[in-house]
Amino acid sequence: MFHVKQPDELETPLARELYENAGRLASVESQRLPRPAKTRIFTISNQKGGVGKTTTAVNIAAALASKGLNVLVIDLDPQGNASTALGIEHHAGVQSIYEVLVGDVPLESVIKVSPEMPGLTCVPATINLTGAELELVSMVAREQRLRTAIENYLETTMSPPDYIFIDCPPSLGLLTINAWVAAKEVLVPIQCEYYALEGVEQLENYINMIKKQLNRDLVISTVLLTMFDSRTNLATDVANEVRNHFPSEVLNSVIPRSVRVSEAPSYGKTVISYDRRSPGAISYLEAAIEIANRGAQLGR
Ligand code: ATP
Ligand code: MG
Repeated sequence: MFHVKQPDELETPLARELYENAGRLASVESQRLPRPAKTRIFTISNQKGGVGKTTTAVNIAAALASKGLNVLVIDLDPQGNASTALGIEHHAGVQSIYEVLVGDVPLESVIKVSPEMPGLTCVPATINLTGAELELVSMVAREQRLRTAIENYLETTMSPPDYIFIDCPPSLGLLTINAWVAAKEVLVPIQCEYYALEGVEQLENYINMIKKQLNRDLVISTVLLTMFDSRTNLATDVANEVRNHFPSEVLNSVIPRSVRVSEAPSYGKTVISYDRRSPGAISYLEAAIEIANRGAQLGR
C-alpha cells in the first residue's frame, strides 16, 4: 500500500510549493466560466512603463480563451509587444489598428487568429502606429475613432467576442484616450515595487475627466498586482498599500515574478500555452477566473 503524503509531511519548501501548485491548477481546470451577456471591453492602462500591461493583457486573454471564451486583443501600442506574444506578424506591411484609426478600414478585416489557441484573436499594431498620435490630432472625432470602429464591428459581426482587451502604450496621448473612450472597464496592473502608487492618482484624475466628458460608463473595475516577490517585505507592504487604496478593485490573485512569464514572449507565446503548470500561468488563470466571476456577480 502506498502512503500519500500530506502537505505538512513534505520535507522541503519546494516539494510543498509543487504540491500546492498542483492543487491550484486542478481547481482552475475544474471551473467553468460564466459567459458575459454582452462583450466586456477592457483597456489595460498605467502610464508607467514596464509594469506588466502587455503581459497582463495577453495572459488574461489567453487564460479566458483557454477556458472556452472568445477573446479579442487589440494592440494599441506601436511597440507591438502584444502582437508578438500572441504570435501575430506585425511588420510594417501588415494591415493593423493603424489603418482602422486613420484609414477607416473596418476592424473586422484586420482581426487575425492567434496560433496560441482557438477563440483567441488579435488586431496587431505595427510601427506605423507611431505616427497616429500626430495624424489623429487633425481628424474629426479624434477621441472616438476606436470606439466607433468597435461599435460598428460588434453591430455587424455574427460572433461577437466575450471579451475585448486593449493594450495601451505607457503614455497619456490620443491612443490611450481612444482606448478609454472605447472601453467600459479599466484594468490597472500595478508592479509591487517602490513608488507603485505614484502616478495612479494622476491616472484616476484623467479617467474621471474622460468619464465626465467622453465616456460616462468608464470605471476602474480591476486592479492586478504584478511581479510580486514574496521574499521581500517591500512587496508585501506595497500590496497592502494598494489594497487600502482600491479596497474592492484589487483581485485576490497576485502575479508572482516568474522567469517563465518573462521568457514566453520570446517564443511568440503566452505563458498559458508555454507552461500552463508554472506558478505565473496558474496565477493568471486564477486572476482571469476572478475577473469572469466578479463580472457575473456585478452584472457586467
Ligand atoms: P510598456 O509600458 O513598455 O508597454 P508593460 O507595462 O506592457 O511595458 P510588460 O512588457 O508586460 O510591461 O512587462 C515589462 C517586462 O517585465 C517584460 O520584459 C516582461 O516580460 C516582464 N514581466 C512582466 N511580468 C512579469 C512577471 N510576472 N515575472 C517576470 N517578468 C515579468
Ligand atoms: Mg506594453
